Amino acid sequence: MGTVIALANQKGGVGKTTTSVNLGACLADLGRRVLLIDLDPQGNATSGLGIEKRQIEQSIYDVLIDEETMLKDVIKPSSHPGLDIAPTTIALSGAEVELTNLMARETRLKDSFGTVKDDYDFILIDCPPSLGLLTINAFTAADSVLIPVQSEYYALEGLSQLQNTINLVKRHFNPRMKIEGVLLTMYDKRTNLGQQVNAEVRKAFGDHVYTTVIPRNVRLSEAPSHGLAIVDYDKRSTGAHVYEQLAKEVLAKHGKA
Ligand code: ADP
Ligand code: MG
Repeated sequence: MGTVIALANQKGGVGKTTTSVNLGACLADLGRRVLLIDLDPQGNATSGLGIEKRQIEQSIYDVLIDEETMLKDVIKPSSHPGLDIAPTTIALSGAEVELTNLMARETRLKDSFGTVKDDYDFILIDCPPSLGLLTINAFTAADSVLIPVQSEYYALEGLSQLQNTINLVKRHFNPRMKIEGVLLTMYDKRTNLGQQVNAEVRKAFGDHVYTTVIPRNVRLSEAPSHGLAIVDYDKRSTGAHVYEQLAKEVLAKHGKA
């Protein structure tokens, strides 16, 4: 059975989507079967992996709102071989409100899984930048949460709120959920700030923090507009290299290296 990892941080722009897409692609390159669920109405993972709006008949929105639609019904191959995607559309932005009145609103995503977990080694969920019902659905369905943290002032701000939401979900819906890891992103080792944040995050999260650190790399920000993962856009870039390293570290942590 596959491992379900939610990538979450209610701050926007910290590297959730970049990490979902590129960790997913690199895990696939290491021979794992990977599914990425795009749970952000912005749809950056969907477009970043080359899925165009007109190609999407049913999306993760239908999965959440319509009990008849199962996760397997919306899965498509992405631009990266071995990486599948459950795409989103902007309709998902209404789901946060629409879910409020539905039965079992916190477990809709999990209930849609059916046997999909048997088809993949890893299922990554790219969460929206909020701690509402979409993220709660991700946490309820997940085995673990991977938290990207941007190397900047106030990097740790908001993480106690995130921890509270994790604890709430653990108490009510998913007692076995774990911290998968904490990932430092957009790191600049030349600045004191970068080093300071690195030390601070390691003090707060200890062993949970990945050895791999993601530096700022302009190629990583260019790749999505081409609908490509970094390894397909520029295989020799630093961005490709660090996400390959992260994928190996994730596998090693799971004893699957
Ligand atoms: P989130 O999903 O948390 O909102 P994104 O992954 O979309 O964050 O990243 C926010 C912006 O920063 C995007 O434009 C993305 O291309 C860019 N970005 C992310 N990681 C890096 C990086 N390591 N180096 C340079 N740009 C990055
Ligand atoms: Mg995002």
